[in-house]
Amino acid sequence: MTDRPDPFSAPFGSLFGDSMTIAELAEGEYNYGGSAQPLENFSFHPATHALHYGSTCFEGLKAHRQSDGTLAIFRLDDHVERMRQSIGRLRMPVPESDLIRSLIIDAVEANADFTPNPPGSLYIRPTFIGTAPNIGAAAAPSDSGLLYVICSPVGDYFAGGIRPLTIYVETKVPRTTPQFGMVKSGANYVMALGPTLDAKRDHGADQVLFATADDITETGASNFFLIDDNRLVTRQLDESFLHGVTRDSVIKIAADLGYEIDERPLSPAELAAWTGEVFLSGTAAVVAPVGTVIVNDAPNTVGDGQPGPNTLKVREALTSLLTGDADDPHSWRTLVTG
Ligand SMILES: *Cc1c(COP(=O)(O)O)cnc(C)c1O
Repeated sequence: MTDRPDPFSAPFGSLFGDSMTIAELAEGEYNYGGSAQPLENFSFHPATHALHYGSTCFEGLKAHRQSDGTLAIFRLDDHVERMRQSIGRLRMPVPESDLIRSLIIDAVEANADFTPNPPGSLYIRPTFIGTAPNIGAAAAPSDSGLLYVICSPVGDYFAGGIRPLTIYVETKVPRTTPQFGMVKSGANYVMALGPTLDAKRDHGADQVLFATADDITETGASNFFLIDDNRLVTRQLDESFLHGVTRDSVIKIAADLGYEIDERPLSPAELAAWTGEVFLSGTAAVVAPVGTVIVNDAPNTVGDGQPGPNTLKVREALTSLLTGDADDPHSWRTLVTG
């Protein structure tokens, strides 16, 4: 134990628990042996479908150590359903919810003692890949696959304190395609990578906020919010972007705190004129304050450029639900033995 690397000093996602769970898909059926096994390398044929034709998707959720020593997986069932949705949109056989649930719970139990105390957590990565060794299957789904779960002990995403982000509003290049907006897939990430690297280089931006057709949707990996003393504003759901579980948590928590919730279209012009606070949401960073928005290549400081009180209030409320410091009115925690 003592010679394990410290998640608080390692880069996010670079450390791994020593166990994994795997279900194999063959002839339309998923088969799971029923327990975790040691984490080890896969061996694949060079023609493996996922490597050529992108038949792959993933999830990202977390388990947090509670004050009584147990672990709580946050919003397990919501992540399970989103994984099923992604796999279905890859036109692969959709696993039963209970199978994905068991793969996640068993992986978390097997890796539980890797979980650092808050603000650290165990980041959980369910993954699906199509494994058919067939480069002729360009226009066909893979007829075999692996559904597996690995875990990564992570420290505080904001090591050294919360640093407000600079976001660049991209109005020409879309994040992804209409049919893949709701799929949590590597394909979407690699599409967003070019614009993000360009905005980093040309504007010193941390993230790109995608807003083609005058319509702000989300960044490459997080959902987008405006907040002031009275209301929370975010883009209404449709198939064009990823429905973040954190987005949904933020909306419900803000409503519980008494904010008016406004889900509607948002334009870059409205963002440039906004006098309240701006933040991003996602499982990894939870709630990330934005200090500067670059609209039409012009930087606008948000408030005084520092994390605002409403953003921090929502962030605190969400964090205390993760760690068990607050009651669980929405039944979002699934307890597993640590
Ligand atoms: C995962 C992801 C998010 C955030 O979703 P959470 O469920 O809140 O972690 C947002 N946008 C994209 C594109 C994502 O892949």
